[in-house]
Amino acid sequence: MNIQAELFNGPCICGRSHRIEVKEIVIGNHAADALFQKLKDGSPAEYGRPLILCDTNTEKAAREKLQAVWQLCGELKLPADNLHADNHGVELVHRALDERMERGEPVPGLLLAVGSGTIHDLTRYIAHERGIPFVSVPTAASVDGFVSTVAAMTWNGMKKTLPAVSPIGVFADTDIFSRAPWRLTASGVSDLLGKYVALADWRIAHEVTGEYICQRVCRMEEEAMEAVCQCMAGLRAGEADAYEKLMYALLLSGLAMQMIGNSRPASCAEHHVSHLWEMEVINGHVDALHGEKVSIGLVLNISLYKKIARAIREGSCRVKPYEGLEEELLHATFGAKGLYESVLQENTPDPMKAVDPDRLAEKLPRIAEIIEALPSEEELVQLLRESGCIYDVSQIGLTEDIIPLTMRLSPYVRNRLSFNRMRKMLDWPES
Ligand SMILES: [Zn+2]
Ligand SMILES: [Zn+2]
Repeated sequence: MNIQAELFNGPCICGRSHRIEVKEIVIGNHAADALFQKLKDGSPAEYGRPLILCDTNTEKAAREKLQAVWQLCGELKLPADNLHADNHGVELVHRALDERMERGEPVPGLLLAVGSGTIHDLTRYIAHERGIPFVSVPTAASVDGFVSTVAAMTWNGMKKTLPAVSPIGVFADTDIFSRAPWRLTASGVSDLLGKYVALADWRIAHEVTGEYICQRVCRMEEEAMEAVCQCMAGLRAGEADAYEKLMYALLLSGLAMQMIGNSRPASCAEHHVSHLWEMEVINGHVDALHGEKVSIGLVLNISLYKKIARAIREGSCRVKPYEGLEEELLHATFGAKGLYESVLQENTPDPMKAVDPDRLAEKLPRIAEIIEALPSEEELVQLLRESGCIYDVSQIGLTEDIIPLTMRLSPYVRNRLSFNRMRKMLDWPES
């Protein structure tokens, strides 16, 4: 299964011209061979000696199938323990690259990210900083960010989206990523199901503020969600075909982000929950995967949105004036970790400034309609449970009492308008 990425390039019904950076996407048990051929034909003339970036776990997962590729490349292997997409991880890679050069090894002409989310974020950031192209070799169908053009990083404690580059190609070999631990695959499923909230947030923001939206991109995300729902049983049965469908869906969602130039189509209120917990301002360290936290963010936001939609229909939801940033609360929570300035900066300008109270009031029925099109909390939880995904805070070592503050604070971690943020201008019986 290949994806012809260039089909998504060029002028669109939304009035913009989309730009896709990734040139080639190969999914299947022939992907390792396709990559080998590519390197053999292109290297060293085109790529110099390529360098594989992996960690001790992803090396184990991929080396056997990639044996021929490995022989053509150098290797930079990071310790998997405590490896994160953060400034420490970046430093490790820079240092290792510098040491290689001090030993007289040539600058690599191409980097190969052999791993899942963390290795990809580190590689795309380093590739951008050093001006080296990179190729993606996913070892698990665990996130939708393989072809992302930005790196999701924790920088000195603050969750940030930093400039990075897209891979020029993705070679996803089924024999590698379908054998990943189930927890990683389930995390990929969750990351995709999170789009229910992300898309609703984008649509609502478009209705209320006139924010740009592309219907074609929305359709791609929906197609990705449909694909993942269809392949669920096959995934549990370990069918290669189902794994390829999941990888296809993840990459399609990634391409949707490339078309927009940021993660707007694929990440909003549900991801904000995940980012907040990663910053550890109201909780201790949460030992959970990206998709696992997104999963809970999805359920929490769906639950809230459905309540508000019901109140709108009952006529008991009212718009109230916006009171500005909750500075005292932000100071008490983010400030305790020295992140108050960063969070203020992130919220400048305040995305709520774009929300006009009259227009919000007028759009309430349309908002209810968008929310009613989403699956119910019960349906989602059942789907997540059956798929072996996470759906409750207790499963990642948190307790229920963290939920109210999580929902109140999470909109502040990113300068992106979610409906959860807009609710700061809403009053309804349960609020
Ligand atoms: Zn478009
Ligand atoms: Zn995600």
